[in-house]
Amino acid sequence: MEQEKIWDSIVIGGGAAGLVASIAVASAGCEALVLECEESPGKKLLITGGGHCNLAHIKATEKDFNSGNLRAVRNILSAFPVRKVKEFFRQIDVDLVRDADGKIFPGTRRAATVVRALVSECRRLGVGIETSRPAERIKRNNGVFTISGSGFVRKARTLIVATGGLSYPHTGSRGDGYSFAESFGHSVVPVLPSLVPLTTRDPDWQKLAGVSIDVRLSLVDGGKVIAGSKGPLLFTHQGFSGPAAMDLSGIWLRMKEQKNISIIADFIPGAGNEELLSRFASGSERQPTARVKKILAVFLPERFCEIFLKKSGIDPDKQVAHCSKKEREKILAALRRFSLPVCGVLGYDKAEVTSGGVALDELDPRTLGSKIVPGLFFAGEVLDVDGRIGGFNLHWAWASGYVTGQAAAARLKSGSVF
Ligand SMILES: Cc1cc2nc3c(=O)[nH]c(=O)nc-3n(C[C@H](O)[C@H](O)[C@H](O)COP(=O)(O)OP(=O)(O)OC[C@H]3O[C@@H](n4cnc5c(N)ncnc54)[C@H](O)[C@@H]3O)c2cc1C
Repeated sequence: MEQEKIWDSIVIGGGAAGLVASIAVASAGCEALVLECEESPGKKLLITGGGHCNLAHIKATEKDFNSGNLRAVRNILSAFPVRKVKEFFRQIDVDLVRDADGKIFPGTRRAATVVRALVSECRRLGVGIETSRPAERIKRNNGVFTISGSGFVRKARTLIVATGGLSYPHTGSRGDGYSFAESFGHSVVPVLPSLVPLTTRDPDWQKLAGVSIDVRLSLVDGGKVIAGSKGPLLFTHQGFSGPAAMDLSGIWLRMKEQKNISIIADFIPGAGNEELLSRFASGSERQPTARVKKILAVFLPERFCEIFLKKSGIDPDKQVAHCSKKEREKILAALRRFSLPVCGVLGYDKAEVTSGGVALDELDPRTLGSKIVPGLFFAGEVLDVDGRIGGFNLHWAWASGYVTGQAAAARLKSGSVF
């Protein structure tokens, strides 16, 4: 009977990490079964990168990630560096392209291409994929894992938990992996939403919804910069979004309780102070009656200039010729160091990833295999690893998926499953 079969390896979760893990198991000549709770695998993958799927970055190191164990992150990335990501996708017929920032996408710019290729590679290798199968309970007796849920029981000699985090719950992220880990005695670093928009209560900034500018943001603790980001900042009805704001969200949320932190914006990271002051000087010579906001609008959107000047205590409609040297310097200083009035973040339904998760210290840093339960592995976002925007989170999913799949197969082949 099908229920009695003992698979070499079961992967819980048919997302990015789980599909690659099952491919790695099967490529090594072992049998793999994927249990996916949604009606189809890869639901989250389909919405990555706005549907374009930024699947890796040309340069990824552990410094692009947040984790309690960056040494383990480095090990896994060096076992499956970007060269191997490219090779892997070439082998499953997915052409890749990179943009000017080093982000890597499928040539079609369609996430569906990636999901289709992964699923057909699973089929080619004979990986079983069972959908609408939410795993609810796991037990381990005599070296065999029993995974059960409503109306099904499946058994395997090795188990890879690739259930993802809690973000975008409608894609299947339910946080089950954390309770599975805890039930086996593993620690879970407290989780929180990350890569998520920041909120503000300030109605002036909310009025700028839709405006986007390139900025440099610094997370500052009592004058000391502890993290930074650079890129577009998008004003929204709720606050601040775009890669620059989202990249700092997880660390802001984690630190705000203990420290007196603020997010400081440099609104003109591309221009030097001298350049700005001389633009001001020449603007006031050429158009002495022009308003300050118009002169500033050479660099930044006029709607933004109006609010920014108001917030900095300068009348936006003041004629530039009437602006004193001190006022010009005040504007410049505010453009360079403006404290954003952040009061919180949106929830998991708007967070691209979950920060925190299964602690790496209780896993073998080379294989992500449990040091507590032989034959148990964890891969992907369920782990205490989250990356910045730019393809790093998917790179982590592929790398950790591949490494765990290979390690599970190696364990089976060595016969050490008990
Ligand atoms: C809107 C959005 C855009 C993003 N864009 C990018 C991007 O462009 N580049 C990038 O690098 N990262 C991006 N990310 C992050 C990236 O998608 C995730 O980090 C990555 O998908 C994590 O892979 P995973 O396999 O660990 O988890 P998931 O992809 O979430 O897969 C986990 C799977 O497990 C299944 N599952 C959960 N519990 C159970 C259970 N009990 N039983 C059975 N199945 C279960 C889920 O249904 C799911 O299919 C984005 C995320 C979001 C939300």
